[in-house]
Amino acid sequence: MAESIGAWARDGWVNIVGGCCGTTPAHIRAFRDAVDGLAPRALVAPPSAMRLSGLEAVALDQDSLFVNVGERTNVTGSARFRKLVKDDDLETALEVARQQVEDGAQIIDVNMDEGLIDAADVMRRFLNLVAVEPDIARVPVMIDSSSWPVIEAGLKCVQGKCVVNSISLKEGEAQFLEHALLAQRYGAAVVVMAFDEEGQADTLERKLEICERAYRLLLDTLNFDPFDIVFDPNIFAVATGIEEHNDYGRAFIEAARGIKERLPGARVSGGVSNVSFSFRGNDTVREAIHAVFLYHAVKAGMDMGIVNAGQLAVYEEVPKELRDGVEAVVLNTSPEATEHLLELAENFRSDGATAAREDEAWRELPVAERLQHALVKGIDAHIVVDVEEARVAAERSLDVIEGPLMDGMNRVGDLFGAGKMFLPQVVKSARVMKKAVAHLLPYMELEKSGDTTSAGRILMATVKGDVHDIGKNIVGVVLQCNGFEVIDLGVMVPTATIVEEARKHSVDLVGLSGLITPSLEEMQHVVSELRRDRLEQPVLIGGATTSRLHTAVKIAPKATAPVVHVNDASRAVGVASALLSDTRKPGFLAELYEDYERYRKRFEEKRRDTELLALDVARSNRLSVDWAAETVSAPATRGLVVLDHVSLETLEPYIDWTPFFHAWELRGKYPRILEDTVAGPEARKLFDDAQEMLSLWKREGRVRVRGVVGLFPANARGDDIVIWADEARDEERATLHCLRQQRRLPEGRPNLSLSDFVAPVDTGIDDWIGMFAVTAGDGLDAVVAEHDAANDIYSSIMAKALADRLAEAFAEFLHRDVRKSLWGYAEDEDLPNDDLIRERYRGIRPAPGYPANPDHRQKEVIWDLLKPEDAAGISLTESLAMLPAASVSGLYFSHPNSRYFGLGKLGRDQIEDYVQRRAEPVTESERWLASSLAYG
Ligand code: SAH
Repeated sequence: MAESIGAWARDGWVNIVGGCCGTTPAHIRAFRDAVDGLAPRALVAPPSAMRLSGLEAVALDQDSLFVNVGERTNVTGSARFRKLVKDDDLETALEVARQQVEDGAQIIDVNMDEGLIDAADVMRRFLNLVAVEPDIARVPVMIDSSSWPVIEAGLKCVQGKCVVNSISLKEGEAQFLEHALLAQRYGAAVVVMAFDEEGQADTLERKLEICERAYRLLLDTLNFDPFDIVFDPNIFAVATGIEEHNDYGRAFIEAARGIKERLPGARVSGGVSNVSFSFRGNDTVREAIHAVFLYHAVKAGMDMGIVNAGQLAVYEEVPKELRDGVEAVVLNTSPEATEHLLELAENFRSDGATAAREDEAWRELPVAERLQHALVKGIDAHIVVDVEEARVAAERSLDVIEGPLMDGMNRVGDLFGAGKMFLPQVVKSARVMKKAVAHLLPYMELEKSGDTTSAGRILMATVKGDVHDIGKNIVGVVLQCNGFEVIDLGVMVPTATIVEEARKHSVDLVGLSGLITPSLEEMQHVVSELRRDRLEQPVLIGGATTSRLHTAVKIAPKATAPVVHVNDASRAVGVASALLSDTRKPGFLAELYEDYERYRKRFEEKRRDTELLALDVARSNRLSVDWAAETVSAPATRGLVVLDHVSLETLEPYIDWTPFFHAWELRGKYPRILEDTVAGPEARKLFDDAQEMLSLWKREGRVRVRGVVGLFPANARGDDIVIWADEARDEERATLHCLRQQRRLPEGRPNLSLSDFVAPVDTGIDDWIGMFAVTAGDGLDAVVAEHDAANDIYSSIMAKALADRLAEAFAEFLHRDVRKSLWGYAEDEDLPNDDLIRERYRGIRPAPGYPANPDHRQKEVIWDLLKPEDAAGISLTESLAMLPAASVSGLYFSHPNSRYFGLGKLGRDQIEDYVQRRAEPVTESERWLASSLAYG
């Protein structure tokens, strides 16, 4: 027994020697003998480190890497967070914290210092919410405030060991020590700002002197643990143009080195984004400055920093030229460094943002002029601050809107009207306006001064069954810019709702929008119903398939009120204000009706003059194909293929950008439009913004593309195409009913039908047909909703326009894959993107609702066979529009002679034949093909 205790003691297993029950003097003697002459065990000092914790422990020792302190949960640093806190939407504000942690923040800095916020109360409530979110509460909190009661409110509710940010000698030693003592008692570490009774330390000497003084006070007076001290020796902006500021970067870096040498245990931190403040608006340069600054500061001993954790560039990855320029500024190696970097910065602009330098001068203007400038230039960076300043000075908040804001918007309206501004600029102006109004709205509600005087109130809607709204939104924006109040009912709006809302809001105008042909019918219906309800407001008609002719012939006669076709945002204002002006309206209408009369006459004449062939004559002039000699290839892959892993990166090269510029009413061809002498600069900004959004989407993966494609055995039978159940070709699965051109064509030109491109049953040839449906709208709604919630109409429209492009790019990419591999009839095809856009390949992909096959109901067959709703989340509305709107579907034909054509007008005989084949009443076909009928 004695032996074993001695052995334990020697091995260090027993280090408490004392009597306890059962210990006899003999034991003690044995113990003494065993350890006689041995030195006591040396105490192991705990490794020196700063120790913090959230739910998890964090130890920062000399081997720790740089610690990111998340800066976004700061009402002064993040507009989004401020808005959420001001709206008391703390639940959503938590998401900002969560995002920071996900992006790699190891500590989160929480700051609620804002004039209109009860910071202590919000700090307490927010930190209590954080405490129950393990994903966030995992990391320690840095309680950030310039007011001690706010810090103390926070200290009372954080768990673990937090950091107080900050205490300083600003108000003298007594208060400094009082705060430090409290922090110590709450068990927190402290950030000490290099600030004393004389102010903030800006030179290296002052920084070191103040930090040293604070360090000695803390250790000598409070026996403060040096590992609980973090010094912030002040990061100030460099490259401001003021000579004394040139050394601010170097001074911080050297101060970090000095602190680490002279004040053992203490850590060094700082707010990094300050350093690049003079380059606001140019994120590329700002991020480069942060990367270079951190590279040197961390080497010198900086341990942690308040940064946007999601946005840290890597030193080595900054382009060399920029890095050298930035380095010269940060380390202050040459008096010309700032000037040089300003020049360089122009080549490294991150976005279409207005140049940071020009920004400065207008900030000195009186507030009304600043507001105008912001509106005309579309700069939203300072709008809330400026509007707030104007609001405080104004008697009523409404006066700010009716005064400087409307003046600014009128100017935008005038410039656009005069062709001196492009649509994207107008939309950016509208974004500024929306943000300004959003800020004023709560005050106006308090003042009960909601009713603005407006140029007129217009109700806008995309009609039932239709889902497209880019054009409608753009027209809405332009009208708003000109003082109109717009009530937007959105998409797929039933007629009854339009009538009801028009009455309820006693609007002055109704605007109807639609993209697909069934919407033309729907609009006639809306107009009749408005009339039936005795609503006499003028109606504006717009959208891709609408036309002046159709409006004159089909819609206007159904109304007693004026109905005007307006397909161009720049015309909308002129038309709307003419319709609402007592003096201009009569003249405007007289001209319009005269115009309509001409259109109707021409339409009638044309209808009389168009000579249609009898259907059997047209059929006998079908495309003649010598099927025996044709090679019809069987697909390599048969049946359905679902595509849900195609990346945006894959599709990017296939994007046809020209229609993107058209969506924004910038006419011209990409890429030439970028160099256009007039539209070029705006086109470039727009393009840059689109690129930026696209790269964000690629990174985030929130917007996804999905699709489905299928290749099926098929043969023509008359003008129909039979799709067989399987390759035995004896059981029919579905029929695609096609129509045939009926107009008299020049000698030698066939009267085409899509069915001509597939081998007829009686040839005995095993032919095939394909179908596809793709979308880029998966996840888009949430993205758009976010932009809308932020009143960012520009990004909202941009997102939709970009998704449309991706859907078309997907269709192009998929068609290529079908030709080269899935069907494989053109394995060797190798065309550049330009030729793909021009569709210079063998085969076509006609889309139902387009000129060759205007009956949207062909989509019902596609949906029956491909099940795109299950496979790719694409559904059809009652008018057979695809939802999400950013979707494309169509048929594939592989025949070398297949080409796009316009079906033209159809005779009654063909419709009668068609309804026989479809087994439906004549009226049904006449409704779906209304725009293609050659008879009334
Ligand atoms: N590169 C363009 C492609 C879309 S427009 C873009 O990115 O927007 C061309 C497509 O419209 C064709 O591929 C086809 O699907 C459809 N299309 C064009 N003319 C057609 C016609 N006459 N009949 C049927 N579909 C047609």
